Amino acid sequence: VFIVIDGIDGAGKSTQVDRLCVWLRSQGYEVTQSREPTDGRWGKMIRASATTGRLSAEDELNAFIEDRREHVATLIQPALAKGNVVVVDRYFYSTVAYQGLRGADTGSLLSEMRGEFPAPDLALFFDLPVDVALQRISEHRGDVPNEFEQEDALTEIRKSFHHMATQCAEVEVVDCTPTPDEIAENVISRVQSVL
Ligand code: C5P
Repeated sequence: VFIVIDGIDGAGKSTQVDRLCVWLRSQGYEVTQSREPTDGRWGKMIRASATTGRLSAEDELNAFIEDRREHVATLIQPALAKGNVVVVDRYFYSTVAYQGLRGADTGSLLSEMRGEFPAPDLALFFDLPVDVALQRISEHRGDVPNEFEQEDALTEIRKSFHHMATQCAEVEVVDCTPTPDEIAENVISRVQSVL
């Protein structure tokens, strides 16, 4: 079973991915937890570019695609073949939403992604009003927001996620305004339906 948690910055994805994996293991499932950008060479390059200087739009899109090729081939597919539950923090939906902001055509990007990469059984889009997301980013992380963590950009990114939710049958939108415990319960009940 392949599960993706994606969505805008500040909604609490990483916390909930950790919690979901703890719960799955407590239920006896073998779990493979991962994230994109990955900790492989392409993913490292992408993460480093946040401080060493942003790649061009074309190089950045290419790096995300190469990172995913390696991720799917070396980790996701082998884990699924073993029968593990695979939980990934961000996937191709983020590429469409974020790199779409840098000029890539989102409609054709989504179909290219779906053509090349396996779709998950369930993709949960963590959703939050943009002003709440921005408030959480500054309160909880205390660091300087990156260029996506601005009202205009996040509004576009959120719109893009909502649009993809109408295009992709495996996607469910999760309201992230409640407490972390309530979100975790909601996530578990949705995941139970695909186990
Ligand atoms: O998942 P995480 O929040 O660690 O992502 C790090 C940053 O990378 C995010 O702030 C997001 O804005 C950015 N990102 C991106 N393109 C993607 C995925 C994430 O620019 N495809």
